Amino acid sequence: MSITATALTPWPADLRVLERDWLSSNQLLCLGDAPAVIDTGHVKHASDTVRLIADALGDTSGEASGGAAGRPQALATIAHTHLHSDHCGGTHALQSAWPHAQTWVPEPTLPHVRAWDEDALTFGDTAQRCARFAAQHALVPGQTVRLGMRDWQVHAAPGHDALAVLLFQPDCGVLAAGDALWEHGVGVIFPHIDGSGGFEPFIHTLDLIESLAPAWIVPGHGAPFGRAGGAMDAALARARQRIAYFIDHPAQHALYAAKVLIKYQLLDVEQMTRPAFYDWLEHAPALRQLHQQHRPDLPWPDWIALVLAPLLGKGVLRQTDTHVLDGA
Ligand SMILES: [Zn+2]
Repeated sequence: MSITATALTPWPADLRVLERDWLSSNQLLCLGDAPAVIDTGHVKHASDTVRLIADALGDTSGEASGGAAGRPQALATIAHTHLHSDHCGGTHALQSAWPHAQTWVPEPTLPHVRAWDEDALTFGDTAQRCARFAAQHALVPGQTVRLGMRDWQVHAAPGHDALAVLLFQPDCGVLAAGDALWEHGVGVIFPHIDGSGGFEPFIHTLDLIESLAPAWIVPGHGAPFGRAGGAMDAALARARQRIAYFIDHPAQHALYAAKVLIKYQLLDVEQMTRPAFYDWLEHAPALRQLHQQHRPDLPWPDWIALVLAPLLGKGVLRQTDTHVLDGA
């Protein structure tokens, strides 16, 4: 990671960001006697995630890595901002690599993880995949959790995900924002899809982030950015503007979400036969809901064609006689 912004507060040496892509979330590594990681990426990249973290802990299959002095360290703690499949897909592999690691999830999701209720965990609705993992501890808003050598505040962060949390470290001013704030763009508002929530909680979470006044924001995706120089204020303004647009044009949120879910699937599997692709579309309940929110007047096949047209037109996806492929 290269952090170029001028900061009021310097970036702390015991924290390291492993910046990933748009399928796997970033990892925030908290070093110390008991190293911890926040968010674990997508299952597709799980072996990369294990390798990146092992390298950072100086544990490269027992070989001296030159990373950490002395013995390689074991990952002690795994924490999650929320349980979307791109934020917890590497957890199973990390638990296999470091069996003594203790795993924390947002409080309401703990029973869902223990029972591995895929519908409650949203993997069912979105027809996404995630490797089953275990969790021992609940992240409770208002409490703190020890990650690495620091205590981190847990704050409720509904909006993108109703059960998400922010993890904030007030001494060094670092905020693990998950998908509550990116520097550019706004994530899908999942509670709006299933009707369990509106857009307003997202705005309240943006207000909370502003009130915490972090020096650094580590988003779930994209490069970290700072408050100094105005990057945080600009990101908050863009996000508020986007949510205001969605409040005025909720059907546009549905169209955006449908495109995101379809692109995400192809980022994962890279290609599908056309029958398998159309079968997947049919069996993603979230897409059925988005159809009703966007253009219920259109028959399903016509709506799918409407959603796919710009994705194919811009090369975001490609289509051959036999297959649908990721375009990037
Ligand atoms: Zn998410």
